[in-house]
Amino acid sequence: MKLLGRVLSEILEGLAPSVCAACDEPTRNAFCAACAETSLHRPPARSVAGAPLLVAGAYAPPLSTAIVRFKYGGRPELSRSLSQLLSASLGAQALPTDAVLVPVPLHPKRLAMRGYNQAALLAQELGRVCGLACRPRLLSRMRETQRQVGKARVERLTNAADAFEVRQRGVRRVVVVDDVVTTGATVRACAQALARGGVELCAVVALAEAFGD
Ligand SMILES: [Zn+2]
Repeated sequence: MKLLGRVLSEILEGLAPSVCAACDEPTRNAFCAACAETSLHRPPARSVAGAPLLVAGAYAPPLSTAIVRFKYGGRPELSRSLSQLLSASLGAQALPTDAVLVPVPLHPKRLAMRGYNQAALLAQELGRVCGLACRPRLLSRMRETQRQVGKARVERLTNAADAFEVRQRGVRRVVVVDDVVTTGATVRACAQALARGGVELCAVVALAEAFGD
């Protein structure tokens, strides 16, 4: 698929980042020419918790490389080029204009360790690019879920249930934003909390969709 080329050409020169999100090579696009050689694979359309899941691509290089650097490599500024990439790849699937963007929250302990919530940075940047409001504190993470990697699917589902709560009122429709969606257990737990709070989930937006199990 030539999606990446189209996405790159859609990114305005003036808004473009100065280095490749995957390797730091100077470039005006999200990825340098060498990294962009690897096309983004579009996973088949899927819904999570009854809402469409919209992603920039499958969790594979160069996108996965950029996400690891963004999330674990102390590179919060990559939220800018990655949210531009995401916004461009959403294209015609415009987000509802009356919805607000809500990032999946980190537990305060993990937030303190990492120093930033990557989903919140993405939601803020995406909101700026798409002209939507962002409410990073609408959802609150009530307890720390254990790391999802390496756990059986059933274990993960139980692990994430009741982990979130709606903490702010006055919002009716939201788009949940996360960095990577794998089984969707975290998003489903958010959706349950939103439903309990009387909030409608319109869509789920993530940089990548991973198929880890
Ligand atoms: Zn590169």
